[in-house]
Order: sequence, then structure tokens, then C-alpha cells
Amino acid sequence: MSEIKKYYISYNNVHKLCQKVAKEILTRNERPDIIIGISGGGLIPARVIRSFLKQKGEKNIPIQAIGLSLYESMGNMNEGMERIGKEVVRTQWLDFGALKEHFDSLIGKKVLIVDEVDDTRTTLHYAVNELQKEVEQQQQLLNRLNEPTTFSVFVIHNKDKQKNAELPNEMLESGRYYAAETVPDEWLVYPWDADDIDDHTRLAKLQGHD
Ligand code: 5GP
Repeated sequence: MSEIKKYYISYNNVHKLCQKVAKEILTRNERPDIIIGISGGGLIPARVIRSFLKQKGEKNIPIQAIGLSLYESMGNMNEGMERIGKEVVRTQWLDFGALKEHFDSLIGKKVLIVDEVDDTRTTLHYAVNELQKEVEQQQQLLNRLNEPTTFSVFVIHNKDKQKNAELPNEMLESGRYYAAETVPDEWLVYPWDADDIDDHTRLAKLQGHD
């Protein structure tokens, strides 16, 4: 059996990749009104890209965290319980109280959803879908149907593989899916998971990910 290769990613690398995508977003005039980081891997990239998206005279872009976890779902198959797929579970959701300090809702806003990696795409699909539903419900409730909300996605890494779920075509086609790098389907080791950050950084440098 071939061993899975590990790609070590340094903090510097994360920082530079956030900077690269922020430039792209600003060049396209797509500066978001709010950043939604998917906890935990999306939080550090969300915070870093916010600095690069800041413009003179403008307030800091608010960041909200949503918590999503992937679990194996089990089902009763032929010979007992078996894995039948992956299920996303919400562990944290938008804080509308905090949102009101900046604006009344997500309606009509540019929303940037951030995660560290797009692997099977299950998590991102869930996040985009649920947030879109949330906005549609608010629009119905407040009778504000004519204010288009735009969702974008930023990931540091997109794994080049068959995905299990999709993102809206309209998002992909209009270039609002930003992956700083597309990488082979290997295991990425992020610096925030490192026990020994010096050794981690050394390995990342050796691999050219610094
Ligand atoms: P999904 O399969 O839904 O695209 O990714 C789910 C989550 O699995 C990601 O948000 C991330 O936390 C985790 N994940 C997937 N691939 C990797 C990887 O290569 N390295 C790390 N550290 N986490 C990963």
C-alpha cells in the first residue's frame, strides 16, 4: 500500500497565500462586507485575509465564525452497521446579535466564506447552501426580494480530486471561488496543528511551502 504523502504548510506560506488571494479579490472589486470563517481551520486564514482586504478609511470587515464538523454516518446495511457517507453537523452558527452591530442582515451583502481546505467539498457545499437558505428566509420575512446577496469562497488549498458535493455553478463560473493553490490529493499539515513548530517550519521549507 502506498503511503500518503504529507505536505507541511508554514505560517508564512498561509500568510502569503492569503495576501495573494486578497489582491485578486480587490482587483476584481469584490471586497466583502462580511467574512464567515468555518471553524476551526478557516479562522486563521479569515483573520489574515481580513488585514489584506482592509482599505484606508474603511472599517475592518467583520468576521463571524460558524462551526461545522464532518461525521461518518452509519446505516444498517446487509450485515450490520456500515458507513454510508459523511454528514455535516453544525456546532456553531451565525450570531445575528453581533451582525446587527454592523448591518441588519446578510441581505444584499458580499459574503466571503473561508476555510483552509476544500477536500471532498462536503463542508463548503453545506455552508454555502445553508447560508443561502438563511438569506432567502430573511428576504421573504422582510419583503426585500430585490437585493442580491453574493457568496464567494476562499480556501488556501483545493485538492484536485473528485468532489462529493457541488458549489453553485454561478459562483464557479463568475470566478467567486478562490483557491490560493490547487494541490494533489495528499494530507496537508497546517502549522496550527504542529507540536513542534520549528520542526514543522523546517519541513515546510524543505518542501518549498514557506
Ligand atoms: P471536506 O471534505 O468537507 O471538503 O473537508 C472537511 C474538513 O476536513 C476540512 O475543513 C478540514 O478541516 C479537513 N481536512 C480535509 N483534508 C485535510 C487535510 O489534508 N489536512 C487537514 N489538516 N485537514 C483536512
